[in-house]
Amino acid sequence: MIKHDYKPQNNKRFFDKGFFDHIPAWATHPFMIISMALLIMALAFLLSDENTAEDNTVPDYADVETGEITIQAPDKEIEQSPVVDVNHKIKDIDYSDPIDIPLQLESTLIAEGELEPLDIERKWKTETVKKGDNLSLIFKRIGLSAQMVHKIINLDKNAGRLKKLKPGEILHYQLNNKGQLEAIKYIIDLQKTLFIEKSLADDTSIGNNSYTSRIANKTIEYRTAYVDGVITDSLYMSGKRAGLSDTLVVNLANIFDWDIDFILDIRSGDSFSVLYQEKYLDGEKIGNGDIIAAEFINQGDSYQAVRYTDSNNVSNYYTPQGLSMRKAFLRAPIKFSYISSGFKPRRFHPILKRWKAHRGIDYRANTGTPIRAAGDGKVTHSTSNKYNGKYVFIQHGQGIVTKYLHMSRRAVSRGKRVKQGQVIGYVGATGLAEAPHLHYEFLVNGVHRNPRTVKLPKAEPISKKERTAFAANSSELINQLMSRKQIQSNSQVAK
Ligand SMILES: [Zn+2]
Repeated sequence: MIKHDYKPQNNKRFFDKGFFDHIPAWATHPFMIISMALLIMALAFLLSDENTAEDNTVPDYADVETGEITIQAPDKEIEQSPVVDVNHKIKDIDYSDPIDIPLQLESTLIAEGELEPLDIERKWKTETVKKGDNLSLIFKRIGLSAQMVHKIINLDKNAGRLKKLKPGEILHYQLNNKGQLEAIKYIIDLQKTLFIEKSLADDTSIGNNSYTSRIANKTIEYRTAYVDGVITDSLYMSGKRAGLSDTLVVNLANIFDWDIDFILDIRSGDSFSVLYQEKYLDGEKIGNGDIIAAEFINQGDSYQAVRYTDSNNVSNYYTPQGLSMRKAFLRAPIKFSYISSGFKPRRFHPILKRWKAHRGIDYRANTGTPIRAAGDGKVTHSTSNKYNGKYVFIQHGQGIVTKYLHMSRRAVSRGKRVKQGQVIGYVGATGLAEAPHLHYEFLVNGVHRNPRTVKLPKAEPISKKERTAFAANSSELINQLMSRKQIQSNSQVAK
């Protein structure tokens, strides 16, 4: 619209002779033009004079020396001026009281100028610990006295760490302009840094300073990671392929140690999914944390576990329903991690078929592989004969006895109490044994039972006072585990 209205060609008409014809003759008279010009100049002068007068009022309000402006009780004329409500906080101003407003400009200038804080001026200097070095030699190099070494080293337990400096480590320090020690910084590890600082209250002029130490802790950030996999050869190989570290594979097996015999019962097609923590410091991964939830599907049976830290700060694994994963008996008396050959089911089948006549389970393992007690108990036999070779029997509660045969060496003596998982001997081929293996028997009230299928005492439930907190925590973890598993399987289908 505006563009259409604006027609430059029409403007020419204003300068046409005809236009001037309409102006009265007196208006174009030179005297009239000069007097109009004089009037405009006079007005302009008056206006500029008014501005100058306003500027001149500022120093009346400003106290330049203190860098503050004092707004005094204004005159009646400017009483209604909204400018006074500077911070939008001051309401119903009582004009009888002056309001002090810090002059920002002044203070900024001071901060940038000569009054810069000393701490910013002083920079950290470094001294690298050499071979055969100690704090005395280092202090000597940087010009500090032997007295100072004594004072710092004997300051407290924290500072005592400086007695054990290792070559290659770096000592950071600050000296003031008199060459006196202001501060020491020593990085203990990724997380901890030792600071020794001059106490603030001290008078430096006396030169008799005292120091204080503190350890600054960086917080480790925990992030949740997820991995899953299907077993095609061994738990070890499959776990590693899925992205689990050696430690995480072992930890995963340890969680299900009471439910699954990872040596004999693992089958191709078994699967696992794991939620675990990764540790980060300053955005960099520094290692793995604990497994916080896991599922293992063994021959079609699903076993789930969640980690829970109780109000006493004790962490344990539980089923999602709150039963401890720990039970009275371990499924296998040998740790899976000692079986280097991994998953080779065919190797065990001929022996398993002999179960009825044999009344025990044989674990093929190298000579010297540690054998662990399946449960807490008392050693009733630790001896040898020509059939069993070197052997150990353990009496547990509830009429249960476990027997371990053909050992190369026994590690416990008769009458001793043993804890679940404790090493009681080592795999061998003593007695009637063709190859190194552990023959393991499990008896309930004198009757041989299959330790991998026998009904065992029920696991302990989580304590009553922990139940509410546990339930919330557990369902959250299981939901997370299952949803990650779903996302993972969807993305694999999509591929
Ligand atoms: Zn046997």
